[in-house]
Amino acid sequence: MQTAISESDFMQIIQAKELFIGLDRDGTLVPYKLTPDLAYVDKSVLEIIQLLTNINNTIVAIVSARGLNQLKKDFPFNNIVLAGSCGLEISYPDHKIITNETALQIQPLLSELIDRLKPLTKSKHKAIIENHGLTVCLHTKLISDRFILKNIDKKVFALGKIFPQLKINKLETTYEFYPNINWSKGMAIEAIFEYLTLDFNQGLSIFVGDSQADESAYEVINNYKGISFKVIHNQNLSKAKILLNSEKALIDMLDHIARMRCNLFGKRS
Ligand SMILES: [Mg+2]
Repeated sequence: MQTAISESDFMQIIQAKELFIGLDRDGTLVPYKLTPDLAYVDKSVLEIIQLLTNINNTIVAIVSARGLNQLKKDFPFNNIVLAGSCGLEISYPDHKIITNETALQIQPLLSELIDRLKPLTKSKHKAIIENHGLTVCLHTKLISDRFILKNIDKKVFALGKIFPQLKINKLETTYEFYPNINWSKGMAIEAIFEYLTLDFNQGLSIFVGDSQADESAYEVINNYKGISFKVIHNQNLSKAKILLNSEKALIDMLDHIARMRCNLFGKRS
């Protein structure tokens, strides 16, 4: 892993005849906040993303655990790929939306799950439920009492037994409930390449993420001889080739890429 981008990698990104830029949202474009609703996309970041979507030979995809509806509100641009719920639901620049069939079948169970999670949001518990449409998250960031956290952990994993159609990812302060199917952000990237008939043995692909959920995406990008970046919040081992110190380091890099590629390739007419 490198801790800075080399001049030759940077020039490869600027000059790529076809460039795919995959970006995670939380912890990558947007710093984590105490509650998910406080982590909105800054206006200056949106301007850079919008410029990138308008440049010839450049494709931008947001690949996030957030639901597609949220991503549509956040990034209301024409030429953008939005992969919500880690790509279980992908909207393309031609306005076509492709939803994973199995996830769709499992979706009705999520309201039942939410009803069972609700007591964990009341009084002393203070957990936060987020319904992403095809997935559900339970956040415990506002809770510091170890006894309450242990109790929530027990209840969450008991729910896993009631809903075998769902799998539970336990992150630092979040439980993610996903359809129990073989799916990852890496598979979402492959699906996007296939739909858009992108051949990245010719062009260049990059992806930027920050968490364990992004590792599968780095792997796919590396296989296509692309450049994978990780915004570092911890020292965990990663398959990403290049580490970025902060969200700000990424935004500065994207700003440079946008301006230099705009000069070289021009805007879409
Ligand atoms: Mg993230």
